[in-house]
Amino acid sequence: MTPGQRAEALILEFGIASPSELDVEAIACDGGMDVRYEPLDGCAATLAGIKNHAIATVRPSGNRGRERFSVAHELGHWNLHRGQSFRCRVDDQSENLASDAKLEKEADSCAAHLLMPRYLFDPAIRSGTNRPSFKHIEEVARAFEVSMAAAIIRMAEVDSLPVIVASYNAQGIRWRAAAPHVPRRWRLHQTLDQDSFAYDVVSAGKTERCAGKQSADAWFSNDGAGEYEVIEHAMPALKGEVLVMLYLTDVEMFEISVAGRKFEQRNYEPFNFGREPC
Ligand SMILES: [Zn+2]
Repeated sequence: MTPGQRAEALILEFGIASPSELDVEAIACDGGMDVRYEPLDGCAATLAGIKNHAIATVRPSGNRGRERFSVAHELGHWNLHRGQSFRCRVDDQSENLASDAKLEKEADSCAAHLLMPRYLFDPAIRSGTNRPSFKHIEEVARAFEVSMAAAIIRMAEVDSLPVIVASYNAQGIRWRAAAPHVPRRWRLHQTLDQDSFAYDVVSAGKTERCAGKQSADAWFSNDGAGEYEVIEHAMPALKGEVLVMLYLTDVEMFEISVAGRKFEQRNYEPFNFGREPC
């Protein structure tokens, strides 16, 4: 069982049936970790543990989603990395996706499973639509009290939709996450292409969200990408960044060629190919 699966098993043990019941402080307390909210210098949260008891100190941020993620992240450290103390710099999973800190990523994964267990999160994300928009995901993020970035990363992880999510700024890509069954061969551009909607957000200061069909070569550096189409959603984010969600709706993007024969790797349910609002 992976650390994430263990976190989800814990939520099931509590008999939690809706996101409003995900009381992360109570879950932490049950696991021997008390939570305090106090000002901290230079980090978002700390963890100090002795024997079977730990204290997590979280810097109040005024953003409940980030505070909850910090608590769940420290609980991840407590469950996975017992015996060590931590000073954690960030309170959002996207920051650690942009770095290469193994223990931090493990704690983030644990936190994401704990706050957004698949059995609650996946049905919520897909309720009433087979291609969720940022507006819909925002409603789900609010219900689960998590950030938009945390929600779209988790949406890719649960692997029920053929999606790649990413964040860019004017310098280039900051982080990316792909649904596990999306073929690894699709390589995102390192900087935004001028034809993408996301480029207009970062470089032209466009403040509205946008979604629509897009030639895949606006996003992927693979030879022949222009033969395919994707659906791009772009949304302004903090610090001059843009959140991007790409749906790979073209079944041929899932084909692999072995010894001259083509096989389809697609593991996702078919989409409706309706017009996108922009
Ligand atoms: Zn940490």
